[in-house]
Amino acid sequence: MMDTIAVSSKTMTEFKDITQEIRRIVKKSGIADGICLIYVPHTTAGLTINENADRDVQADITSALSEMVPARGEYRHAEGNSPAHIQSTIVGNEKTVLVDRGELVLGTWQGIFFCEFDGPRQRKVYVKVFGTAKP
Ligand code: ZN
Repeated sequence: MMDTIAVSSKTMTEFKDITQEIRRIVKKSGIADGICLIYVPHTTAGLTINENADRDVQADITSALSEMVPARGEYRHAEGNSPAHIQSTIVGNEKTVLVDRGELVLGTWQGIFFCEFDGPRQRKVYVKVFGTAKP
């Protein structure tokens, strides 16, 4: 069974912490030992695992990505959102996290973030938990 998280972005570029939603899905799955696959089915959004304590880290990441991929350039794609496609490719659209004793295995300062690069939009994140259930 696959779960879906609905994400709505309010600005063009933003990171949304979806760690708690994913924790709930892992709990609901009953899987004690395995992996959790998180997948974004969009071409102008992505996923990252990074610091969730200081929001300035997310601001620094989005700002560095914007500098790497300027809003204006010699882009060919007619839709006009090539920077968002490129940033999505840099960040990637899938993460795998270990599940141990029914919990996501994340570092103390790690959170799982949905990355919007072409908002505002309604988005989806797919989550599937694989493994063995509690005995
Ligand atoms: Zn496009």
